[in-house]
Amino acid sequence: MKTVRDTPDLKDKKILVRTDFDVPVENGKIRQSLRVQKQKPLIDQLVLAGSKVLLVAHISAIDSFSVIFGELEQLLGRKIIFIKTPEDIAGFLAGSKPLGLLENTRTWPGEKDNDQSLAQRLAQGFDFYINNDFAVCHREHASVVAITKLLSVYAGPLIVEEVKQLKRALTEPVQDKIVIMGGAKASTKVPVIKSFLRNAQAVLVGGIIANDILKARGQDVQQSIVDDDAEKLLAGVDLTDKRLWVPSDFVIDDGKFLDIGAESIGRFIGEIRTAKMIIWNGPMGMFEKDKFMVGTKAIAEAIVNSSAFSIIGGGDTISAVDQLGLLGKFSFVSTGGGAMLMFLGNQKLPGLDALGYYE
Ligand code: ADP
Ligand code: MG
Repeated sequence: MKTVRDTPDLKDKKILVRTDFDVPVENGKIRQSLRVQKQKPLIDQLVLAGSKVLLVAHISAIDSFSVIFGELEQLLGRKIIFIKTPEDIAGFLAGSKPLGLLENTRTWPGEKDNDQSLAQRLAQGFDFYINNDFAVCHREHASVVAITKLLSVYAGPLIVEEVKQLKRALTEPVQDKIVIMGGAKASTKVPVIKSFLRNAQAVLVGGIIANDILKARGQDVQQSIVDDDAEKLLAGVDLTDKRLWVPSDFVIDDGKFLDIGAESIGRFIGEIRTAKMIIWNGPMGMFEKDKFMVGTKAIAEAIVNSSAFSIIGGGDTISAVDQLGLLGKFSFVSTGGGAMLMFLGNQKLPGLDALGYYE
């Protein structure tokens, strides 16, 4: 995989940069800006070196970057030209301003279909392409994959860092590490659980995914939220595996298991204290409500107070931990949600593949 160190002299080069500005937005304001902050070093490096840089990114929470444009400029500490359509790129490249951002790529027909003609429209006039958006690497989209057929490609420093840290999670000795999984979307989490049941000391499970496992084991989960297809998804998982830890008690509201209970917290914390490496994705309960934040808070505190190397990821996990004021205390915070899970589940990511990572 070629990186920014391998690029030709950056001065006066026209560079297309896939960036990650996919932040949560509430009432027109960015709620959590980690992803934007992690783009700043590369943007600074390229602009200071005299490159002309077009940022290409998507956002899921809103349709248009116009809503948060001022905040983006502030977080990056730079004036940015807002480029409304791919047809306006040529004008930007001909002008004198060094930094532009193209409107939300997901609004361009063909982006999600990895359409080669959209990639062609984006690539026109550029010297090369840098991908610095790890969190989109599980998507086979035009600005991630098709574009790499048209320009020479380099991995940005964020991708290099993510891959290095997450690889560490896979290669650390089995007896030293534990994995904590929670939240929703079983389809993305089961492959990780499967992979780490063979490659970790313990997999501690909370959230909706714990309800799924309990239900599949034949336990009564009352009115709890479960994934419809959970049983099918869990098919390859040995539900009696001693390394698979599920909660033994819950905070129940209206018949729903909405947080792990005190006894489970105690057991989980005991295990956390023994680990040298901890990988965590997914809140233990419905943390958006204070009374169901208790399990997530206890787990977060136990991790940061342990001596383990800690890796966390997932949009809601990061939001929860940030809300607790603990985000800076984890050893590595991955910007990847689905991409991190796919990487940890030992699946091939199309975006990394397009950068030559698996060659
Ligand atoms: P991440 O974004 O960190 O990967 P997920 O999106 O998978 O996390 O899951 C977070 C969501 O799961 C939150 O909205 C939270 O309220 C919900 N959740 C967690 N546990 C429960 C539960 N027991 N019952 C209902 N919702 C839950
Ligand atoms: Mg989420």
